[in-house]
Amino acid sequence: MSEGERATVIVDGMALANELREALRIEVASIVARGLRAPCLAVVLVGDNPASLSYIRGKRRACERAGMASREHDLPATATQHEVESVVAELNADDSVDGILVQLPLPKPLDASGVILAIDPAKDVDGLHPENAGRLVAGLPGLRPCTPLGILEVLDRHGVRLEGAHAVVVGRSTLVGKPVALLLVERNATVTICHSRTRDLAGVCREADVLVAAAGSPLLLKGDWIKLGAAVVDIGVNVIDGRQVGDVDFDAALGRASLLTPSRGGVGPLTITMLLHNTLAAYRRRTGA
Ligand code: NAP
Repeated sequence: MSEGERATVIVDGMALANELREALRIEVASIVARGLRAPCLAVVLVGDNPASLSYIRGKRRACERAGMASREHDLPATATQHEVESVVAELNADDSVDGILVQLPLPKPLDASGVILAIDPAKDVDGLHPENAGRLVAGLPGLRPCTPLGILEVLDRHGVRLEGAHAVVVGRSTLVGKPVALLLVERNATVTICHSRTRDLAGVCREADVLVAAAGSPLLLKGDWIKLGAAVVDIGVNVIDGRQVGDVDFDAALGRASLLTPSRGGVGPLTITMLLHNTLAAYRRRTGA
């Protein structure tokens, strides 16, 4: 390590996720031991996008291991907007379902925002319904999006101080960038949100004590954009020559960041874990258990 460089803690997202999932499993087991039904997650899949099929398989497996019930509703890629929203309406009305997740992206020409709007906000375990998004803005309790929750979990579990820290979020999507920025503000960080029109992205990133990369642009953030000692959470999932890479140049960030998440095995496993967490939270709110 050359002068000025420091040891980087590489986050093991799978180990962290397993620890949290075991705690969830114990909680669910204690509910079931009281003679109550297990929480139930319903997943709606439209079409047969291979990436979506693989994500859904992972979610189903995680539910089973946590002792939660899961249901899958598969619709053909030719399903109409009305058909998809009717399935959502049935799940809304089904008292034995606590969480509803519609796997995105939806095939064209379906309108994802219309489908999300159809989900009962109390069962919106992806935290994407405008009511839940509004609750986050207003600082009211509600279901929060899973990846942003996973990012906060990584930072908290590694003792990263957020209060007063300058957090820079690269990306302003409804799914990740905006909600994680709001969660960081809620934790008293000073937050800058960057996007594709940001002037001097490198300069803004260099100011970050906490840097969240959520751009979906391979190796966008270079090593010398990282302030020495910054905590860097990279959620980017990109493929170059068949190899998964993040939004951060991982090798160049080693020795500069104090904390770094790899693209594979970083925040991804926590996203699914937070889905289980939200399903249990929705179950508790709905049933009072
Ligand atoms: P998205 O909807 O495509 O949003 C990307 C954001 O990044 C946009 O706000 C865009 O700016 C900004 N951006 C793109 N290129 C940029 C550049 N060169 N400079 C500055 N800003 C740039 O993506 P997303 O859904 O938020 O996902 C982001 C990444 O995270 C993707 O790789 C996705 O696969 C991954 N992801 C991972 C997980 C996980 O669990 N690990 C979960 C969700 C997503 P504009 O708004 O100006 O276009």
